[in-house]
Amino acid sequence: MSIVPGFETESNIEPDYAFLPTAGAAPPADPWMGELHALLQELECISAANETLPPVFGAEIDNQLVQVRLGMAGSLFAALQCKHAATAGHSLRVALTCSAWSQQMGLPPDVRDVVEVAALLHDIGVIGAPDSVLLKPGKLDEKEMVLMNRARRSGMEILKHSCALPEVLAAVGHVSAWYDGRLPEFELRTEQIPLGARMIALVEAYDSMTTDHVFRPARSREYALNELFRFAGTQFDPDLVKRFAEFQRLDSGPLHREVAGRWLRLLDPDLVNSYWELNNVPSPSGEKYGSIFEAKLLENMYDAVVFFDSAGRIELWNRGAERLTGISGGSVRGRLWEPEMLLLADEKGTPIHDADCPVFAALHSGVQSLRRLTMVGRTGRPNAVDTHAIPVAGEDGVMRGAILLFHDATSETSLEQRCQTLYDKSTKDPLTQVANRAEFDRVHEMFVEAHRLQGVPCGLMICDLDLFKQVNDVYGHQAGDDAIKSVAALLKSNCRPGDLVARYGGEEFVMLFADCDNATAARRSEQIRKALSQIAQPRLEGRAVTASFGVTEIQPGDTAETMLRRADRALLMAKGKGRNCVVQLGSGSNASSAAGSPPAGRKGTRAKDDILLEKTLVTPVPIKMAIEKLRGFVADHQAKIASIEGNGVCLEIGETNSGRLRRSADRAISFAVELTFEEQRRRRKEDASDATGAARTKIRVCIQPQKIRDRRQEEISLRAREVFVSLRSYMMAVEEEDSPAENTFVRVGRILAPWLLKK
Ligand code: GH3
Ligand code: MG
Ligand code: MG
Repeated sequence: MSIVPGFETESNIEPDYAFLPTAGAAPPADPWMGELHALLQELECISAANETLPPVFGAEIDNQLVQVRLGMAGSLFAALQCKHAATAGHSLRVALTCSAWSQQMGLPPDVRDVVEVAALLHDIGVIGAPDSVLLKPGKLDEKEMVLMNRARRSGMEILKHSCALPEVLAAVGHVSAWYDGRLPEFELRTEQIPLGARMIALVEAYDSMTTDHVFRPARSREYALNELFRFAGTQFDPDLVKRFAEFQRLDSGPLHREVAGRWLRLLDPDLVNSYWELNNVPSPSGEKYGSIFEAKLLENMYDAVVFFDSAGRIELWNRGAERLTGISGGSVRGRLWEPEMLLLADEKGTPIHDADCPVFAALHSGVQSLRRLTMVGRTGRPNAVDTHAIPVAGEDGVMRGAILLFHDATSETSLEQRCQTLYDKSTKDPLTQVANRAEFDRVHEMFVEAHRLQGVPCGLMICDLDLFKQVNDVYGHQAGDDAIKSVAALLKSNCRPGDLVARYGGEEFVMLFADCDNATAARRSEQIRKALSQIAQPRLEGRAVTASFGVTEIQPGDTAETMLRRADRALLMAKGKGRNCVVQLGSGSNASSAAGSPPAGRKGTRAKDDILLEKTLVTPVPIKMAIEKLRGFVADHQAKIASIEGNGVCLEIGETNSGRLRRSADRAISFAVELTFEEQRRRRKEDASDATGAARTKIRVCIQPQKIRDRRQEEISLRAREVFVSLRSYMMAVEEEDSPAENTFVRVGRILAPWLLKK
């Protein structure tokens, strides 16, 4: 190409002219056609003079020359001829001159081969230049110059995909480099620039200057040589300028003969073709991608690696990327990246567009990202891939490009899916897909613990379908199953964030209400009860099923176990009340939670040191009702009544290791809880004999460990307090010091046995 920025201020491309003339045709009017014609005739003479040369016929000689020199890459040159014959003619002249000059300088044949091939193809990028620029008669403006430069670079891309000889690529790639290294896009300078590139730079400048253009006539040879000398040491290799000037003084006839003879007769077609590979994928092992080690690593990595330039153009597409995507590197290199190429989508299947593409995010905002996406690769089906997009900025902070790593996550996904399946199997009820009993027990403990720590209420509902045996008997087990599923769906639809529904057994469900007090839990249960009683069950001839509900709220001193037993008691009461209703039990978490001061007295026969807690509770109900409340405490703690003596009762509260909700690391701790009851009545009048006013019950509580020398003192004291707090909640009592101290009560002794032992 005749763009010679150093000395040609009127830089432009050569004017277009017709394709090469046929043999024997009259010399064309166009002077450039004439020159080429003369060159061909010269070659024709050479071949005619040498009997061993194959017959050559006029204008076809150049095609033959190109064919034998380029072998299978001759088609590239043919494309250039079709696009812009002037550039093809220029390239042929430069190649022939370079070859003759190489011969004159005595360069080895392999160096000469490189120079010849590089010279023929150094302007191949012109095939990508727009005709409006190529055919413009005037000087190129800035924009057009940019287009031509881009075309020049695209020539390198074309060659990278087809040429297997790195020396040819290096020579073509450096034709525009200045000898003194001043052009920033080239890293090499002086003798580092390949010899072939330095020679072609000089010869093509000379050819351009001595060629007629529409915008200026050809300069004289003297002028051209003068210009070469003027730029020797800056644009051109000064030594080569001198040698070229000497070469120009020689008789070119024998040299041209030698060139024609070499090309037409001596070139080995196999060797010529060995420079070229169809669909050659350039190795990333240029200096751009670091050492040979890095190049090897990139090519042998199983994961896909893609490099992008700052405009998002694909620069490298390693074998891993080819394997994963089924797209060859050669077909995408140089293309502008778009996520649609791989039908990238997020995990929900929403397509990824430029706006949310990790590559563009890395390029535009310098953000690294790790995302699980899907892509459609060689299988034709969406594949899970873990993508890692990394921005690449230079030391100056300017964005140079980005790297995208793809890791095939199909195996991880299937492993995760298998784990999920296993997890679901172990935690879900297969019929209803709500949590199973084991999962409920696990979550319930955590639920109670978390709500206690945060000091917020939580509720528990347990429900059991009414007379379900009959449903099965009348409509069959399958129809019963469908009704059970519809109950589960109803409960699920009533879940709020943090709630849990579980199938506790056959036709029994539990539901944990997060951040919910007794009243709300009861109201929500009532809504569910009502809704269930109105759902027409298709398999039950449109009849509805009903259920009974027991509801409670966590209260001080509760464990998951006591809470569940209380809810269960409430359910039994609901069944007892005639079914299809909600019963709520428990005092709720608002009951005072202060556990009071440490034990201060001595009680019973045990040593003072063994007493863990000794306190007095007061509940504002008569003793009969207090005993009813105690019954709930006894039931839910599964306490044993060890003895009843007069006003006193002794309970044994034991925890066994087989306890459903106990943590396996815990060891059993059991307590003796001694309670002494006293009913008190307020005097109506000052008259001490009138004791008919409102009654309250005073309970003296003394808690001791069953095993006297249990060393787990801290843990035991804590548990004893929990038992006390729970008792206080069940009794709806306050500690005596909290109740108003009045001397207006009469003490009434009572015998407990008749009430407490009553079923
Ligand atoms: P109640 O109102 O007292 O609860 O009466 P009920 O008949 O429902 O009595 P209970 O709760 O004791 O009996 C449960 C019945 O539920 C027993 C069984 O026929 C039925 N059942 C339990 N599990 C399933 C199940 O998975 N599918 C079906 N179809 N029926 C079940
Ligand atoms: Mg049942
Ligand atoms: Mg039932």
